[in-house]
Amino acid sequence: MQIKIFNTLSKEIEEFKPIKKEYVSIYSCGPTVYNYAHIGNMRSFLFADLLYRVLKTVGDYDIKWVMNITDIDDKTIRDSNPKNGNWLDAMKKSSNDPFENIRNFTEFYIDSFIDDIQKVGIDTNNIFEFPRATDHIEEMIELIKLIYNNGYAYIADNNVYFNVSKWKEYKQYGRLKKIDFDNFKKGVRIDADEYEREEVSDFVLWKNKKEEEPFWDFELDGNKLSGRPGWHLECSAMEKKFFDLPFDIHTGGIDLQFPHHEDEIAQSHAGYGIDPTVYWCHCEFLEVEGKKMSKSYGNYYTIRDLEEKGFDTLDIRFSIISQHYRTKYNFTFDGITAASKGRKRVQDFIYSLLNQSEGDEDCDVNALKEKIYSNLANDLHTPKALAEIFTFINSNKNKLFNNKSKNELLELFKELNNIFNIWEFEIKSESIPSEIIKLAEDRVEAKKNKNYSLADELRNKIIELGYSIKDTKESYELTKD
Ligand code: AMP
Ligand code: ZN
Repeated sequence: MQIKIFNTLSKEIEEFKPIKKEYVSIYSCGPTVYNYAHIGNMRSFLFADLLYRVLKTVGDYDIKWVMNITDIDDKTIRDSNPKNGNWLDAMKKSSNDPFENIRNFTEFYIDSFIDDIQKVGIDTNNIFEFPRATDHIEEMIELIKLIYNNGYAYIADNNVYFNVSKWKEYKQYGRLKKIDFDNFKKGVRIDADEYEREEVSDFVLWKNKKEEEPFWDFELDGNKLSGRPGWHLECSAMEKKFFDLPFDIHTGGIDLQFPHHEDEIAQSHAGYGIDPTVYWCHCEFLEVEGKKMSKSYGNYYTIRDLEEKGFDTLDIRFSIISQHYRTKYNFTFDGITAASKGRKRVQDFIYSLLNQSEGDEDCDVNALKEKIYSNLANDLHTPKALAEIFTFINSNKNKLFNNKSKNELLELFKELNNIFNIWEFEIKSESIPSEIIKLAEDRVEAKKNKNYSLADELRNKIIELGYSIKDTKESYELTKD
């Protein structure tokens, strides 16, 4: 099926057309590994995972997906110094060598990151490589040389800067997010890896070494400039390392549009003479209880925090991906609980299909599939796709299907699970047979109609068959005695 996706470059939903026949190439800006990833970060990785899975399952594409690891930037350098940060948490050993320290420190958070994304149902086998920036310094140095030799960089205070005003004359700067050049500070230079749109000015490609910081030797135009790369440069060099340019899709959170991705475009053009990618895809932010997540507001959560509170990590996955990726996601505990119930409703339907004996109900599974897939193919519209699924389940949960329809339905739900990755298809020994579920559902109906004698009769029948039924706030709970 034809996939459509919103492209931040054109600000439109476009038909996705891959560059190569063999595979679709996706590059995702990965984590900065100076701490545990928080659930906001998780939203951006779950978005990339959803995009991967829809392209594969609905679009039928093979995919090469690369997610970089930022293991060198202002924050990893700051916190990998044994005097600062999360050192105690992370460290097995510390040394006097800043390079060894940053590698060990970030390795701890890389391992934690891999654990966390696996817990929320991202299959790391789908990711071709997680390149660490510190393993690709050579490629970064090569790119700086290209940019410099093409006249778009200059050296000042032993740092190398990208010359934005020079670049602006050749190609527009601000293709992803409009930039107000009235505020442009010509000749002002920014050394920080992160900065605001209002601060647009020349940005750093290479930073001169500072005391107690890791560094690499680098010589440019006869100047000895030992130091380390700027954050924006890292991604441009790693993209070139893993893909032919331009590659198909670049993902990240909306905060990366400027400066990170704008600077990637500038660097790639100025160095390699080409756009890095064709489709720029960004997910909106996740907020907590309507507020920006921040440690100072006390609303900052990692996956580990939520696990400690007793939440199931697959419910977190479902709650995040069930909202459209281009709308703000308001994270609440009630939201996870609601997602958990929704997930269970589908799971119960799958169990009832697996358990049921043959009936005579027929179902047009292809029509259902078409409705669900067309929503997923249309800019990953999971809320509409899920609405189709729930509408179907609500009006079909008590039916006994003939074998053909039952098998087709199971096939469809298995395929959908290649995308949602939250359901299971093994009948567990304690799973409840569909006949018992049907009695329980009939009892709900009887209670709704205030037919309490029928409700009691149904309860007794359930008990006779060896099960207990307990009323809960939402509906009921069945257990085998
Ligand atoms: P970082 O580890 O800060 O480099 O961020 C990793 C990814 O998380 C990037 O794609 C960011 O855009 C994304 N991100 C950070 N905070 C949020 C948030 N609150 N909601 C959604 N995505 C986020
Ligand atoms: Zn990046």
